[in-house]
Amino acid sequence: MICPRKGLCSNNKIFILLVADKLSHHYIKFCIFAVQFLRMEMDLLIPDKVHDESRQGEALLLEPVVGKNNGRKLYIESYGCAMNFSDSEIVASILADSGFETTSDFNNADVVFINTCSIRENAEVRVRNRLKEFAGAKFKNPGMVVGVLGCMAERLKAKFLEEEKLVDVVVGPDAYRDLPNLIEQVDGGQRAVNVLLSREETYADISPVRLNSNGINAFVSIMRGCDNMCSFCVVPFTRGRERSRDAVSIVAECTDLFNQGYREVTLLGQNVDSYKWKKPHPALSKGEGSEEVKGSEVLSFGEDLGEAPIVNFANLLEMVALVGPELRVRFSTSHPKDITDEVLYTIAKYDNICNYIHLPVQSGNSRILELMNRTYDRDWYINRIDAIRRIIPECAISTDMITGFCTETDEEHNDSVSMMDYVKYDFAYMFKYSERPGTLAAKRYADDIPEVVKQARLAEIVAKQQQYSFYRMQARLGRVEKVLIEGFSKKSNNDYCGRSDQNAMVIFPVTEGYKPGQYANVLVERTTSATLIGRIID
Ligand code: SAM
Ligand code: SF4
Repeated sequence: MICPRKGLCSNNKIFILLVADKLSHHYIKFCIFAVQFLRMEMDLLIPDKVHDESRQGEALLLEPVVGKNNGRKLYIESYGCAMNFSDSEIVASILADSGFETTSDFNNADVVFINTCSIRENAEVRVRNRLKEFAGAKFKNPGMVVGVLGCMAERLKAKFLEEEKLVDVVVGPDAYRDLPNLIEQVDGGQRAVNVLLSREETYADISPVRLNSNGINAFVSIMRGCDNMCSFCVVPFTRGRERSRDAVSIVAECTDLFNQGYREVTLLGQNVDSYKWKKPHPALSKGEGSEEVKGSEVLSFGEDLGEAPIVNFANLLEMVALVGPELRVRFSTSHPKDITDEVLYTIAKYDNICNYIHLPVQSGNSRILELMNRTYDRDWYINRIDAIRRIIPECAISTDMITGFCTETDEEHNDSVSMMDYVKYDFAYMFKYSERPGTLAAKRYADDIPEVVKQARLAEIVAKQQQYSFYRMQARLGRVEKVLIEGFSKKSNNDYCGRSDQNAMVIFPVTEGYKPGQYANVLVERTTSATLIGRIID
């Protein structure tokens, strides 16, 4: 039985209520469960900034750039992961340079961009529905340029123009520099497509602008693409080959952010542990950007292979941590096959590298992991968890888990459940398998687990995670957390909110002498499964 609103309701929330309808003798019990499930999902969506559900589709705004105004307004909204939000900042930066201002109302815009995600089918359905909402505005203002950017643009290419008559321009993630030309083409009466993927593009030289920034936390992209070819995943096809960004430009960007008052950076990549950058030798002492980041210090990191030292992820983390002890450093995503003890020792060495690792397991069963082409097995993953616990005992760990992957049996699903029992994750993103066209799994294996089974398995792990999130939060009761104050809590201007080192959301009363961007020591007095609640102590 499939939810008739499949795609409209993410994770088939409505579906659960329909099943409840059929099973009338368990109706009340089931409804209570369904309500708890919805709450669980909402709770579980709160704590992780990297996949912040509350920001999906939000209009992204930027301060006008003085002296550069072409009189045209850009409306841009993003879906999907933090990488997409970070890309929208690159897009806004490129278009601000051509004189565009941003607007929060698409009805007033000359150019409307939607930065898309393809990771699961419902992410794409959401974008198509959103496009329908732009139709009225375009009807009133036929000169309006509507563009689709990002992963869905890359996956569907020119087909998008055939399928969605509203769309004028389709641009893949490596072609954003071409946007001013493409808009010009559309102004000239043509429709335009650029979905060329690049082996080099990292946008390292684009001066970053921050959209809807709180001036405290920023995402910094350190690499693009992915070479892993997990069989379920569309990313290698939509974002191309993996490439690492110039370490000097990353440190320069973080230094600049710190100087502007930012106090937390999150280094982004699909597989940060495979970050590898080789500095060209001639630029070592007096290269571009070397003054801001003290180029010679940069060179003291990394393995010196004579001609060109190599900066790996542990080296990069250290370089960013040294920007200033008051700058918190986070990162996402780590891959279990690549995360090294060297990275773990670097996290342990620096107080300002946060004790939090997102280590997606996807499945707890070795046969399924092999079918997923994850290139590690259950024992390997457990070994990495044990290493984290040994080297960084206070480290919070979160994960991604997929239920109902091709041929997964009940026993194999139970291995995922037992992995959750073993790790007791602080937080998890949990998904039903969604077959994506063109992936290895779509080509090789039948999507043979019935929707109802996928959903039941998902409900089971969501309930399990709820218990462990609560357990982890309870363990912080009575402890003092160092919190970076991010602003007022969503519910009240009498309370501040911020995050602990372990990435837990912390709420506490506004206290004289403390303001956003500062650190506060908060005594934890109460918890929910997603939030610590307490008060500042001196
Ligand atoms: N690069 C990261 C990694 O390897 O863990 C994750 C990238 S992906 C954007 C985020 C998560 O989406 C994955 O970890 C996976 O759990 C989930 N995902 C990806 N493809 C999926 C699919 N076809 N069906 C369901 N979930 C999927
Ligand atoms: Fe997708 Fe795997 Fe690459 Fe993550 S590591 S983006 S899941 S292919």
